[in-house]
Formats: sequence, structure tokens, C-alpha cells
Amino acid sequence: MNVILLESVLFIALLAVVGALVLNALGITPVGRRLRQTANRKRIDKQAELTCPIHGLQREDDLVRLPTGEPLCPKCYQEAVHGHID
Ligand SMILES: [Zn+2]
Repeated sequence: MNVILLESVLFIALLAVVGALVLNALGITPVGRRLRQTANRKRIDKQAELTCPIHGLQREDDLVRLPTGEPLCPKCYQEAVHGHID
């Protein structure tokens, strides 16, 4: 019984080590660099989408979706539809 438990623990430890090695190898290989660069581009594009040139960075949940499908800053939408509100 103890042998089976020990073998199970060692097998799980082996899986953890192999998983860590694969993740570490992805970080230092050209494939890993390419994946990081792609993630960086997506992060920057996402932040640019959420940034209004007039009102600055907006929360994604606050954006207004226009009928054309374009997201718009809620303050810009309010000003465009209801006029300037202070
Ligand atoms: Zn705006």
C-alpha cells in the first residue's frame, strides 16, 4: 500500500517537474519570445482601444457599443447624443 502511495506521489512530482520544464523552455526559446511579443501586442492594442483621446483610459465595462459595432467612450457618447453635460 505504501509503495503505491509513494509511486503516485513520485509520478505527480514528475508531472510537475516536466510541466515546469516545458513552461520554462517556452520562456527562453524563440517560440516563447514570439508568444510573449504577441501577448505584448495584444495587451497594447487592448489598452489603445480602451483609451479615449479626449477622456483618457476607460474601463471596458463602461464602453458603449455603437450600432456599427465600434466601442465608444461613454463620455463621448453622452456628449454626442445629449450635448455637453457638466
Ligand atoms: Zn471620450
